[in-house]
Amino acid sequence: MAAGEAGPSGACLTRAGRWLARGRAWAGGRCAVCRAWCEGDLCACCSARFAFAVPRCPGCALALDAPAEAAGDTRCTRCRLAPPPWSGAVAGVDYGYPWDRLLADFKFHQRLDAVGALLQPLLARLQAQRGGGLRVVAVPLSRERLRERGYNQSWELARRLARALALEARADALFRVRDTGHQLGLQRGARQANLHSAFVVTPRHASWVRGARIALVDDVLTTGATAHAATRALRAAGAREVQVWTVARTPA
Ligand SMILES: [Zn+2]
Ligand SMILES: [Zn+2]
Repeated sequence: MAAGEAGPSGACLTRAGRWLARGRAWAGGRCAVCRAWCEGDLCACCSARFAFAVPRCPGCALALDAPAEAAGDTRCTRCRLAPPPWSGAVAGVDYGYPWDRLLADFKFHQRLDAVGALLQPLLARLQAQRGGGLRVVAVPLSRERLRERGYNQSWELARRLARALALEARADALFRVRDTGHQLGLQRGARQANLHSAFVVTPRHASWVRGARIALVDDVLTTGATAHAATRALRAAGAREVQVWTVARTPA
């Protein structure tokens, strides 16, 4: 492997470079991907290699080969023909290496230190929302799942996003009425049926949601069934607008 190149287990830097970086980053930490010493959560090399921005559809956050524009509309053909219920979707990266591994560690193995790296590409896209008045809501877990896992990964993402963007956030504005089981392996239609009426806005936060512009945060946007169901609940409670923000988007 050439110097300056990242690999799944290799470092981005030469040995001397690693020592220099370690010196510079003595107060920092290690790159979440290649474990090289660096300032921040991702080293410059992994940032350039894995966290670069690509044009995405503002409706479904799928990466677009070329900005497909029809009369000023930059949404993909599918979103133009069947617009999603939310007003916009923003994703930081495509779901794939190394983000799939980091997300799994974060979600199932309590690796909360991965959160900074996971949020970096998404935050870069959301800078225009800083202090813009959106209210941040996390996709909730069921009580059973929360007890099992000990934390809601969506809230861990949401609260950090809100803090970085100077926005308000509430952990329990949405409530998961029932455990919908694992969505993995279910087809789009089955996921939507499974999630029908899965969420409600909690009465305590009803006035906070009513008339508000909401940013709904989740880890990955796949079929959109979860975001659909949560958006429906937020709109039913009077939210003026819902945007969906996710760390990653499953490619088409
Ligand atoms: Zn790295
Ligand atoms: Zn689209």
